[in-house]
Amino acid sequence: MTNRNMPIPGLVESQKNFFYSGKTKSVGFRLYQLEQLKLLITENRDLVSKALKEDLNKSEAEANLTEIRETLRETRYALNRLKKWAKTQAVSTPFLLKPGTSYIKPEPLGTVLIISPWNYPFSLLFMPLVGAIAAGNTAVLKPSEIASATSRVIEELVPQYFERECISVVPGGVEETSTLLEQPLDHVFFTGSEKVGKIVMNAASKHLTPVTLELGGKSPCIVDKKVDVKIAAKRIAWGKFLNAGQTCVAPDYLLVREEIKDTIISAIREQINRFYGNDPELSQSYCRIINQSHFHRLEALLEDGNIVCGGDTDAEQRYIPPTILDNVNPESNVMSEEIFGPILPVISFKTVQEAVELVNDKPKPLALYVFSEDKEFQDLVLENTSSGGVCINDTILQITSPELPFGGVGNSGIGNYHGKSSFDTFSHYKSILKKPFKLDLFLRYPPFKSILNKISKIV
Ligand code: NAD
Repeated sequence: MTNRNMPIPGLVESQKNFFYSGKTKSVGFRLYQLEQLKLLITENRDLVSKALKEDLNKSEAEANLTEIRETLRETRYALNRLKKWAKTQAVSTPFLLKPGTSYIKPEPLGTVLIISPWNYPFSLLFMPLVGAIAAGNTAVLKPSEIASATSRVIEELVPQYFERECISVVPGGVEETSTLLEQPLDHVFFTGSEKVGKIVMNAASKHLTPVTLELGGKSPCIVDKKVDVKIAAKRIAWGKFLNAGQTCVAPDYLLVREEIKDTIISAIREQINRFYGNDPELSQSYCRIINQSHFHRLEALLEDGNIVCGGDTDAEQRYIPPTILDNVNPESNVMSEEIFGPILPVISFKTVQEAVELVNDKPKPLALYVFSEDKEFQDLVLENTSSGGVCINDTILQITSPELPFGGVGNSGIGNYHGKSSFDTFSHYKSILKKPFKLDLFLRYPPFKSILNKISKIV
């Protein structure tokens, strides 16, 4: 049974009641729920992958690599560590608080809302859910209506593996999300645009509901002269054109040392050809733009520079080939807004300071890429810029390690997740001080004695 006919306030209330029953707090129950999620993924790989093909022309291999396998890996990671994460930790107790013992106890937040975007419509809904379950919450899932085939599959599958009071799906768009955000939720985990992130944060503030905002931005890719050109080009082209550039951490634009700009451009062109052939429209490994509105937005950006590779579009197929733009005006739209498509503008720089200034002229990005074998160059970029994450000499891979928290800073987001960070995001760490009745120090009570002054100056 889906939740199409259940009014949203009633659904959230039933989840809150379920949470207050205490059932989700047992580690055994959380492990069971994670096992259910694992089953949902493993038993429905084909269904999910077909839906991703329909929405984005994502190949089965890409769907497995970037969505299905990633979500499964995150689920297994939590399953193997949950008992340890959920333990109450004893910490030391300061001398003046003795006799006594101190603990930190992670506890679930309650009923959480997870809102996801369309670009990785499966993994970006279920990866946060792993953390929500592991921490012992109930969760309402709001998939993106724009990736409609995947959203339908999610809506069908979730009730087959979870009790509605515990985990449920609310399909829909702005209206449904707005109604959800009016509810007294315990956390909102949002992945999407900066614009909608502000709407979410504003709505959540009415109930003082904490938010995690996983947003986007313009992630720079800085290429120094001391690089292995062929490997750098391969890794840049892979990260940029995966999912046809519709990846929040895709290299948005290239900043290249002036003397190797032409070499890098031709090396990236060569890799595009190797990956997708002479006509990428025929490639089974190349995705489509999600809808006409994004297609036209991207098509307009092609005007902002000289096309040195690609550029020949097909509106009916929502196809934009891997495209490189040279001689780009830094003030143009392609250099001002998040591209979120297969267009790579290239700008050259002469000194590392100039590259850093170009990055710092824009809001803090979600990812920053540095290609250089020169440690001093790497350090100068790292020390003088701020970004959600960094990957040196590769792209995208930094977000695939469960040991590295994933999230933005400034305009690219608030909070983080993946691995233990997901558990932390959906937990409250409760501080507990436990005192025995024995040894009740009389000096702390009024009327205060002058000796208290002396003691407080010493300890
Ligand atoms: P979006 O902000 O338009 O939509 C995200 C979600 O918000 C959807 O579920 C949608 O239904 C809902 N929504 C849309 N308008 C709303 C409104 N007015 N009120 C309430 N809810 C609303 O984002 P998108 O177009 O789906 O995704 C693209 C954006 O997401 C890009 O900016 C990208 O960088 C970002 N993104 C970030 C990450 C990350 O992990 N940091 C990952 C993927 C995408």
